[in-house]
Amino acid sequence: MLGPPGAGKGTQADRIIEDFELPYYATGDILRAAVKEESELGREAKDYMHRGDLVPDELITQVIIERVDSDEAADGFLLDGFPRNVSQAEELDARLDHLGRRLSAAIVIEAPDEEVVRRLSGRRVCEENGHLFHVDFDPPEEEGVCDKDGSKLDQRDDDRAETVKRRLKTYHDQTEPLIGHYDEHGVMHRFDGSDSADEVQEHISKTLRTLRLEGEL
Ligand SMILES: [Zn+2]
Repeated sequence: MLGPPGAGKGTQADRIIEDFELPYYATGDILRAAVKEESELGREAKDYMHRGDLVPDELITQVIIERVDSDEAADGFLLDGFPRNVSQAEELDARLDHLGRRLSAAIVIEAPDEEVVRRLSGRRVCEENGHLFHVDFDPPEEEGVCDKDGSKLDQRDDDRAETVKRRLKTYHDQTEPLIGHYDEHGVMHRFDGSDSADEVQEHISKTLRTLRLEGEL
């Protein structure tokens, strides 16, 4: 799964894994799990994280491949947050090829930058219980105050416009070129994140079911 922050990737991933009963591999979760399990790869990854360094592509790929090459993933899997750049994608292709497997579909949920900034920077969360509001789409009755418990509404650091713009730049620079990569491999499927979550889900499901019928999935 590919897409800029705020395009609805997380929501759709949740629905796909439920619909298609697939194990879900998100890089952050997997690295944290490997570290916790104290596997050899986990210990290696931990050293990088402790130093505040980026975990190298080859190591991340190895951690992912360990999961993919397991019983639970024998009938398929969903990757999210990986690969994050073309070099990781090439490494992944080579490793999968070695296992006699391949990625059968790349799904991108697209959304224009202005829309992403508007969606994320308008989010407000209440201090007490984490209730969510949006200044445009779901405003509280009284500005800055939670409707449900009266506590103060705040903006998460990740949602600040400057932070969102920085995350978008990283996406455009490093991750977006993957669309070209998977286009060349004939597995790219694009979806419009401006549609409602239900519509996007319907389109994705249809595409995946067709691929499954054709024996591609
Ligand atoms: Zn609240």
